[in-house]
Amino acid sequence: MEYTQQPKVSTPLPNRGGAGGEAKQIAILGSTGSIGTQALQVIAEHPDRFEARVLTANNRWELLVEQARTFKPAAVVIANDTYYPAVRDALADLPIAVYAGAEALCQVVEGDEIDIVLTAMVGFAGLPPTIAAIRAGKPIALANKETMVVAGELINGLCRQYQVPILPVDSEHSAIFQSIMGEVSPIEKIILTASGGPFRTFTREQLETVTPAMALKHPNWDMGAKITIDSASMMNKGFEVIEAKWLFGVEPDRIQVVVHPQSVVHSAVQFADGAVKAQLGVPDMRVPIQLAFSFPERLQSTFDRLDWYAMHDLTFERPDTDRFRCLALAYESLRQGGNMPCIVNAANEIVNRAFLDGRCRFLEMPDIIEQTMQRTPFIKTPSYEDYLATDAEARRIAAGLILPSK
Ligand code: NDP
Ligand code: MG
Repeated sequence: MEYTQQPKVSTPLPNRGGAGGEAKQIAILGSTGSIGTQALQVIAEHPDRFEARVLTANNRWELLVEQARTFKPAAVVIANDTYYPAVRDALADLPIAVYAGAEALCQVVEGDEIDIVLTAMVGFAGLPPTIAAIRAGKPIALANKETMVVAGELINGLCRQYQVPILPVDSEHSAIFQSIMGEVSPIEKIILTASGGPFRTFTREQLETVTPAMALKHPNWDMGAKITIDSASMMNKGFEVIEAKWLFGVEPDRIQVVVHPQSVVHSAVQFADGAVKAQLGVPDMRVPIQLAFSFPERLQSTFDRLDWYAMHDLTFERPDTDRFRCLALAYESLRQGGNMPCIVNAANEIVNRAFLDGRCRFLEMPDIIEQTMQRTPFIKTPSYEDYLATDAEARRIAAGLILPSK
């Protein structure tokens, strides 16, 4: 088969002209997705400050080619290697190295010239290249929250060992990060805001019959399909609690989820004296992406500003974990620790896909996740290999729980 001839990744990556000098060299893992394309908009706004050094995609190879022709990175990786010949041929006239396969994702991030790696892939697949980037000493702009959900403790240990910073891209975690900038005192409580998703006001009965199309209509954010479904089930907020624990070292009983449908307050931090600091803004992921790239500086942007006279009703309410059980299951997995969040993540990836494909109903998702938690072997202090094995086993179990008739 033709794609078996794909080249091995060699570093340093080929030279590539461009602004050079001061411009930060950015590798985007998942450049064709929602976060990836917005990151490229940020790079395009600041060509003197940022350059795309590496771009990667999985299936959307034509968009990857288009992006490569525009941003002229040193290398691209198409993870799904069946598209390798197509990408190689389409870029044959440019000095861009073309690689393929999951292994190549882990190798390209090690390139000496890369200053920061944006992890904008979706799901567990983001874990191996994130680890490779940390081992190569690259600062991480972290969008791929599943990495922290699955293996937060392992990632933190590696970051300490290799002295690598993680800059949060998730809007809530960026808000928390911004709220603790300059503080020397510990966090008393994190107030993690949640939009509540499209089904916030739905009764249990209404939730029985919701469709993927309804779930994909998020009220405030335009995101990839997987995270949009996770937002509708509130598993996304559960994952963000886990992400916050590992990023900020705060125990779950001091992370309070507050439903705030307007998504203006992106999250807040309370301190020992009762003072609360929050970060507010128009919902636009380019703001946290740009800050992760430019930190500790803030750069000028053309993004929309808040209109204070138009904000008449900022509201805050308690989440309902009876209707949105995924949130409770995520808390429970964090309480149990070990490989339990990895199990929840794997089961969730299976039911999320099944719901999108019409093979599983909305309210069946938490049932299947809970059963997978009970059936997958528990490991108190998992190694990297244990996480890989747990992910595979939990997926197998969850897939087996989806009724074939659906
Ligand atoms: P998308 O589905 O829009 O994009 C995912 C990207 O990852 C695409 O480039 C896709 O390639 C690539 N990809 C998917 N699977 C694989 C794989 N197995 N191997 C290699 N590449 C793969 O997702 P989002 O941009 O919405 O989300 C990305 C991450 O950021 C997620 O972890 C999400 O939770 C997080 N996040 C997203 C936010 C948002 O606003 N979108 C907000 C906060 C966090 P291709 O398209 O070519 O197949
Ligand atoms: Mg978020």
